[in-house]
Formats: sequence, C-alpha cells, structure tokens
Amino acid sequence: MAQGASPNQEERRRIAREDVERYRAEGLPPRLSFGAMFAHTAALRGILERQDDPERGARLAHAFHEGFERSMAHAPRESRIACSAGCSMCCHNLILLTAPEVFAIAGEIAGREDAQASMTAVARGALAGKGLDSDARLERRLACPMLASDLCSIYGVRPIACRGFFSLSLEACQAVFAGHGENIPAWRLAMVLRGMHDRCMAAAIKGAGLSHRSIEMTQALTTAFAAPDAQARWLAGEDVFAAAMAEPDPEHDDDPHEELLLDVLIAGAAGKPLPENPWTE
Ligand code: SF4
Repeated sequence: MAQGASPNQEERRRIAREDVERYRAEGLPPRLSFGAMFAHTAALRGILERQDDPERGARLAHAFHEGFERSMAHAPRESRIACSAGCSMCCHNLILLTAPEVFAIAGEIAGREDAQASMTAVARGALAGKGLDSDARLERRLACPMLASDLCSIYGVRPIACRGFFSLSLEACQAVFAGHGENIPAWRLAMVLRGMHDRCMAAAIKGAGLSHRSIEMTQALTTAFAAPDAQARWLAGEDVFAAAMAEPDPEHDDDPHEELLLDVLIAGAAGKPLPENPWTE
C-alpha cells in the first residue's frame, strides 16, 4: 500500500488501474469510471496532437466511433431492442454531431462516384431543415438526406448520435412518428456509454483549444463541402461551423458542471492535478 493511503483509497486506486486495463481491451466499462475515461480522453487527444497529419480531425472521429463500438460490443446485451435494418423513423430527427464527425462524413462522400448528388441532397436538406427542431422535422417527415431506401448511406461513418440510440418499443416509435406519442423507451446503458464517450471526445477537443460545441449535421456538411480547407482551418482554431451551431441545450450547455467535468477529464488525461470537483477525491 502506498504510504499514507487508506485501505479505501488503495482499493479505489486498484479499481481505477483495473478499469484502465479493461479499457484497453474492451473500451469504457458500462459505469462511471474516471480512470478509463482519462485513458480514453488521452488516446483521443493524442490523435489531435499529430501535427503532421492534415486528416487528424477525421481520424479523431473514426477513433471516437471505434471506441464507442468497442465499448458497446462488450456491454451486457439487451434482448428488447426493437431497431432493425430498414426501420428509419429515427432518421427524421435533428442530428447533432462534432466537427471531426463532419470531416469524416464529408471525406467519405467526397470519395464517392455520386458525390455531387449526395452534396446536392445535403444542401437541399440543410435548406429545408434550417432552424427546425426534432419535433418540427418529424411533423414535416423531413428525412435525413443520407437516408436512401430506408437505409443509412453513410453507415460506416454515421455520427454517434445515430449509433447510440436504441429503441425498446417499435410501437412507441410508431406512435411518436404518427404524432400521437411522446416518449420512446430507450436502451439506457447505450445512452450512458454514449454520454461518457461524448464527454471524452469533447474534452479531447476542448483540451486542444478547439470548439467542442454540437453542430447540426446538414448545415455543417454544407459548409464543409463549400470549403475544402474547412478541416485545416478548424484544426488551426477557427470556429468554421459557428453558423451550424446547435441551439444551446438547457440540460447541458448552461450547466457549469458540464464544463467542469470536461476540465477534470482534460487534467486527468494529461496526468495533472484535477480541478476541485464533486466526483473525484
Ligand atoms: S446519418 Fe444515417 S443513421 Fe443517421 S439519421 Fe442520417 S440516415 Fe439515419
């Protein structure tokens, strides 16, 4: 036992060490673990520090998605998931994402033979959805422009917002889609894991001095298509997607704890003393 450490402290350190080992093999555990989140934030931040890689923004998004998929693959299974291929009701929502995810999608689309058609569809979607929230989009049956024959045409690079939602009731989805339902029971564990991954990603971006606010997908993609140097400018610190910024989320954006949590993750990932906070000792 380290000198001065109480049995409880030593036990917590042991659990933190095990969490980091487990993170390396299986992703984040399905419960709050600062040790694992520090390790994940550090891994993501390391990608942004590769100054000689002009694609490190998009690469960060791939690591963000892979990390989430790894965590999900090792999470306890949920037998009640109602989602299946070809069911696309949730693809009529407002999709918020991070700037690196925009670069990953823009890069994927730009490399396709039908890139121009996809860019035109995105521009139309951006125009039709400008200023609309999820409810208004649902009311208008405004589908995501990436949806093709009820399947996601960018499945491999779809944002974490799409990866992290699993309905537990097809009937509830149908009722909401038809305009007479309010709540869809979701797989809570996936939402918890998504929240932890979101915060590690936001901390990695914030720690590099870049904008970590959520942006709306179609507006941001339109900007990225129009400016081939958007990734370089964002990496240089310019807030290139300011016009696509999501409306502040009253649950998170105005909560001072959210920024404090990111600052704790930034410090922990760098092995520095943590700012005073209510979660760690
Ligand atoms: S990106 Fe793909 S999964 Fe996400 S809303 Fe659009 S079509 Fe659906």
